[in-house]
Amino acid sequence: MFLPVKKAGRIEKLPPYLFAEIDKKIREALEKGVDVIKLGIGDPDRPTPEYIIQRMQEEVTLPRNHSYPPDEGLAEFREAVSRYYQRRFGVELDPQKEVLPLIGSKEGIAHISACFVNPGDVNLVPDPGYPVYSIGTLFAGGEAHRMPLLEENSFLPDFSGIPEEMARRSRLMFLNYPNNPTGAVAEKDFFEEAVEYAKKHDIVICHDSAYLEIAFDGYRPVSFLEVSGARDCGIEFGSLSKPFNMTGWRVGYAVGSAEVLEALYRYKTNIDSGNFKAVQYAGVEALDNPKSREHIERMQQVYQERRDVVIEALKEAGCRVSAPKASFYVWAPVPYGYTSKDFVSYLLEKTGVVVTPGSGFGVYGDGYFRIALTVEVDRLKEAMDRIKGAVRF
Ligand SMILES: *Cc1c(COP(=O)(O)O)cnc(C)c1O
Repeated sequence: MFLPVKKAGRIEKLPPYLFAEIDKKIREALEKGVDVIKLGIGDPDRPTPEYIIQRMQEEVTLPRNHSYPPDEGLAEFREAVSRYYQRRFGVELDPQKEVLPLIGSKEGIAHISACFVNPGDVNLVPDPGYPVYSIGTLFAGGEAHRMPLLEENSFLPDFSGIPEEMARRSRLMFLNYPNNPTGAVAEKDFFEEAVEYAKKHDIVICHDSAYLEIAFDGYRPVSFLEVSGARDCGIEFGSLSKPFNMTGWRVGYAVGSAEVLEALYRYKTNIDSGNFKAVQYAGVEALDNPKSREHIERMQQVYQERRDVVIEALKEAGCRVSAPKASFYVWAPVPYGYTSKDFVSYLLEKTGVVVTPGSGFGVYGDGYFRIALTVEVDRLKEAMDRIKGAVRF
């Protein structure tokens, strides 16, 4: 087959799919009958809570839910998000103007650049980081300036290291705490510093809060909107995917600056038609039902137990790793002499355990690997026993 049409630069210029090589090795291992344990992808293994599924089952049968949803999302959903922010963070949001439903937060993260970035503009993106920040930037014709997240800075960006010229050209700054992939957290003083920097340079902050509800040892992560001045210069992306084991349902939201959200809303009305109303009602159930508190606490215990298994085993193997306070990832340095990719390949070949190479999240991720805590603890123990048997850090 021959397709005579040349693809657009935005497709041609996409970085090669980093996991293609790993995927091929996984397929080969499976064909050979290897018992592969996948700790690569961060997708919750437990099911969506029963009461949320039940609400979905009820709503899906109602004909009034079968039509196009309103472009701005159901008022019930926007109000539920606003109640959640009030209850959880003491933040007041106007559900009409300061809450916008998204088809998963990835959708909004990918599209926000199209609303603020002209060709030649710059976005500040964390490195290592969730790849969608820089890809969305690229699709809008912008350039991503990487803010290194270094271990010696607790994986927080150092704003003083951003060249003045880049700051001047910058439109958006992406931040993400609790952080994927490093598991790092940010306190209020960091967000205050970010707000100050953004105001000084006319930059819109886009804080990705996907792991806001996944924390350990009683630690409570901070919402970006808890900081004064935050909503004058930015938004927070939120997701029901990780806290409620709802990755497949595609429901999230953005909250904060009405002006920023209005631009995203206008963009979206021209390309999508919102979330299935039944899904939005299921989202209301997740946000409002008091059972969700118990559910979240239970999941925190589940991930915490898994985290402890991984950290203990890595330390026994000589790895210099510290226990994350939040997120469901462990970010650890590879043994001396390996690149991330080499180590991940070696591990798969020797043990059948799949982890993610840090370099998949950016150049500053090289030298690390990420373990996702999204398999049951007995499998995780098995994986860690194999790693301990094969690797000395
Ligand atoms: C999982 C994840 C998301 C995407 O969540 P959805 O709401 O399912 O699109 C966003 N950001 C980060 C950092 C994530 O890990």
